Amino acid sequence: MKDFHCRDAGLDCDFVARGNDNKEILSQVGKHAQNAHQMQVTPELSKKVEGLIHDESSDAHERSAQKH
Ligand SMILES: [Zn+2]
Repeated sequence: MKDFHCRDAGLDCDFVARGNDNKEILSQVGKHAQNAHQMQVTPELSKKVEGLIHDESSDAHERSAQKH
């Protein structure tokens, strides 16, 4: 399972998207970005989000979880 923390994108937000692959997570993030942040999902934003998606067992995840 992978996840994406909105906070990692520099937003003051506790949203976390979870999924088995980037595509699944990106679709959740896309909806959230529009609804919660009035952000349009551009190819640049998708790329940024993909770079921030990490495995739940990784060190990067531990660091993100500790920020909450
Ligand atoms: Zn958010």
